[in-house]
Amino acid sequence: MNGRKLHIAIAGAGPAGLAAALYLKRDGHRVTVLERFDEPKPLGSGLILQPTGLTVLDDLGLLDETLHLGSRIDRLHGTDAESGRTVLDVRYDARSGGRFGVAVHRAALFGVLHGAARREGIDIATGIDLAAVETGEAPLLRDGSGRALGSFDLVVDATGARSRLRGSAGLTDQPRPLEYGAFWASLDWRATGFQEHALSQRYRRASVMIGVLPIGRAEPAGRDMAAFFWSLKPAAAERVRAEGLDAWKARVASLWPECSAYLDQITDFDQLTLARYGQHTLRHPAARGFAVIGDAAHSTSPQLGQGANMALLDAAALAHALRRHGVLDAALTAYVRSRRAHVRLFQALSYAFTPFYQSDSVLLPLLRDRLVATVAKVPPAPQILASMVAGTLIDPFGPIGLREAPWHDRLRPAAETVASIPLG
Ligand SMILES: Cc1cc2nc3c(=O)[nH]c(=O)nc-3n(C[C@H](O)[C@H](O)[C@H](O)COP(=O)(O)OP(=O)(O)OC[C@H]3O[C@@H](n4cnc5c(N)ncnc54)[C@H](O)[C@@H]3O)c2cc1C
Repeated sequence: MNGRKLHIAIAGAGPAGLAAALYLKRDGHRVTVLERFDEPKPLGSGLILQPTGLTVLDDLGLLDETLHLGSRIDRLHGTDAESGRTVLDVRYDARSGGRFGVAVHRAALFGVLHGAARREGIDIATGIDLAAVETGEAPLLRDGSGRALGSFDLVVDATGARSRLRGSAGLTDQPRPLEYGAFWASLDWRATGFQEHALSQRYRRASVMIGVLPIGRAEPAGRDMAAFFWSLKPAAAERVRAEGLDAWKARVASLWPECSAYLDQITDFDQLTLARYGQHTLRHPAARGFAVIGDAAHSTSPQLGQGANMALLDAAALAHALRRHGVLDAALTAYVRSRRAHVRLFQALSYAFTPFYQSDSVLLPLLRDRLVATVAKVPPAPQILASMVAGTLIDPFGPIGLREAPWHDRLRPAAETVASIPLG
């Protein structure tokens, strides 16, 4: 803040909150992270870090640690379960520059960020379920029993898609539930029949989607893992459970027999986490003394794999705005402006693309299959798709003072692996 050091409360120790804490502490602010869990911990399975999120991690000096744990992803590849036809094929290297994604176990990303926060002496208070914020010159946080938790110069809401803080601050847009969610599991990686550097998916129309994503290790000494997912409507989960594990496994195996290597590892429905997706985008994710970042500001389905990456970009953007502006109100306005175009574009794209892969529509998957078989292979479509998945369809870096360093050189894509993948 042009020399002024603030007392900042960061609500939530997810990717957004921890990245913001690191940036702001390094800029000399007094930072306290408040987290509802007794032990900070990540929920869920794996995710893909895109060139956007990797650039932020590089800026934070945490890229090598992340690359060491994660699994390089060169391609997103999906086939139709009945015809075997390729109906999704995006390669990061369709654009020059040697980019790739890195799939990580959530615990790995959390471990990297949380480890850095601990090393740098960031205060993380746990077991605090935040319920409300009173915005203003000295914003005040309250927990569920109404207890005031001190006042600060700035409160950053990083409590994720179901934030209660944004509503209490009058920023009222709540996520609209999306029709489809998914069962997710983290399982031991099995290479037979699967591409090591790709997200592999199989579909039947848009009502069935099965996915296998190699996600590397949760910790340095851990085993190689894969995220396995099965798309379904949350309302159908009870029925699927009632029909029994064997019936569900038989259905998955009938659509993708190679999945038996993963299905054999599932002995109980408790191993499958039901993820529900919702969509919302705050028009103006800030108020007096209050900034909203990450999923609390915008959430969507993970179809384009951007959420955690946008959370990391938000954290970098907030720190950049605070560095450049002497007045807090001006800094918060600058933060919102610097992210607006990128957030809106990717929220809209994600909303538009999701029903092509997760819906009851008959027409949309038909269109998807025709497009991928024809138009998507003709330049510049492969290049546009590569930029879309990378999160760089418009420049996310310039407005937030970041530059994409040639981080790709540190882990070269296995050209021979990509070349050997048939073009579908
Ligand atoms: C199944 C699935 C797959 C996904 N795949 C991808 C992918 O491939 N790529 C990608 O970029 N993104 C992906 N995402 C999205 C990504 O997980 C989110 O965008 C990302 O986790 C958002 O980070 P965040 O820090 O904003 O919120 P969160 O990760 O939700 O963290 C919020 C933190 O706040 C804490 N908290 C919540 N409420 C309170 C409270 N009241 N008081 C105190 N603390 C609180 C929580 O315990 C948590 O620690 C996926 C999401 C799902 C569900």
